[in-house]
Amino acid sequence: MKVVKFGGSSLADGKQVQKIIKIIQADSERKVIVTSAPGKRFPDDRKVTDLLIVYAKKTLKNENTAVIQTEIWARYQAIADYFDLETEELAALKQILLQLPKNKYPNDDYLMAAFKAHGEILNAQLLTLILRKLRISAHFADSAKLGITVSANPQDAQVLEETYEHLANFQLPRGYIVVPGFYGLTKSQQIATFSRGGSDITGAILARGLHADGYENFTDVDAIYAADPAIVKQPRAIKRMTYRELRELSYAGFSVFHDEAILPAIAANIPIEVKNTNHPLARGTVIVPAKNFKPDTIVTGVAADSHFSALYIHRYLLNKEVGFTLKLLQIFYKYHISYEHMPSGIDDLTVIFDQRQFTAELRQKMCRDIQEQLQPDHLEWIDDYAIIMVVGEGMRSKVGVMEQVIESLAKKKIGVYMINQGASRISMMLGTRRVDAPEAVRQIYHNFFENEVRIND
Ligand code: ASP
Repeated sequence: MKVVKFGGSSLADGKQVQKIIKIIQADSERKVIVTSAPGKRFPDDRKVTDLLIVYAKKTLKNENTAVIQTEIWARYQAIADYFDLETEELAALKQILLQLPKNKYPNDDYLMAAFKAHGEILNAQLLTLILRKLRISAHFADSAKLGITVSANPQDAQVLEETYEHLANFQLPRGYIVVPGFYGLTKSQQIATFSRGGSDITGAILARGLHADGYENFTDVDAIYAADPAIVKQPRAIKRMTYRELRELSYAGFSVFHDEAILPAIAANIPIEVKNTNHPLARGTVIVPAKNFKPDTIVTGVAADSHFSALYIHRYLLNKEVGFTLKLLQIFYKYHISYEHMPSGIDDLTVIFDQRQFTAELRQKMCRDIQEQLQPDHLEWIDDYAIIMVVGEGMRSKVGVMEQVIESLAKKKIGVYMINQGASRISMMLGTRRVDAPEAVRQIYHNFFENEVRIND
């Protein structure tokens, strides 16, 4: 049995829904269908999830919601019209949407989560109605029915282990089951969503919990590419990669697949296939465990992301001082800040953060505390920070990869602020200025792929 997840663009309108119905019918193993909310139909379009966020904000501000309700419902109605669906059940779905502001929520965050999750809830119900209209046996199964239980973080929930016990007890009915992605229920039965793009996570949870043989993730690209096509022209498609390669690349902005969705797949050793709804026969990318994996290139992919900032702290004899880092970490803890990396030298320390955690005020307060409590000789906040990840299982067995990377950057006079290579030796992380990041990706890509450096060269 396979779990099949369809992304927003695969469910954006009736024509796309028609394609996914063909896809599920093309392989009798495809039984569990996970839906996203309808996504963009054209580049400037708005995703239904984004419209629901507007709806929630208007509700919170007590503003008139009639226009946005109409706009959201029109997306579902258009899909229903494509299949000539006209039932009482459809009217009931509309009511669920209109009813959202009248429901009770513990706080504004939970209200926002519940509104957002309805993008997928309504879409899964609509798809079930369409399948039934086409005389295809289908059952809607939501988080309540399946027991998808999550932590009490309304918009950034984590799945709880007990979910897998619940899923083990779930009897798969005959026919398809259609599951809304993106959310679960907290122990107190409140809707909490995963972070954005989180329907991928639902698919992976179901694949693990229902002991699927495979997890197919249908999106709108033919494969995962070795570099972002917006930066590198026609990059190489990756045919096979390991979970940890994907995880490392996702970290630096590879956004084809949600990085948190890899964990349940790893736990159950389930291969993930990323495929294109618009070209379902294209080979796609298969993501597999590292055991027995034979890379055919040194580098699998290179990615960059700019949402980082760095804090540079200099203090003489820092290496001899006991408890310096502990005090620093306590300050981060006090402000509820997590850090990404902390490369250090004998007299200095750089801490790299995900910049999205900070407001200007929070940053100032935190830096003031550090200045007062740790009294560094020099403290500097660097906003202009990008991280480049060079990733490949093939890097482990090859000498001189770092040299090649640095050389390709030096050719373009791109300065490197930081280099970090983990013990796994399958990735290298470089810090550069933001403006340099795209060129750095191009240079590294060209160095490793243009001349197709094969593993046994
Ligand atoms: N609809 C949600 C989002 O736009 C979740 C998803 O599509 O995976 O983030």
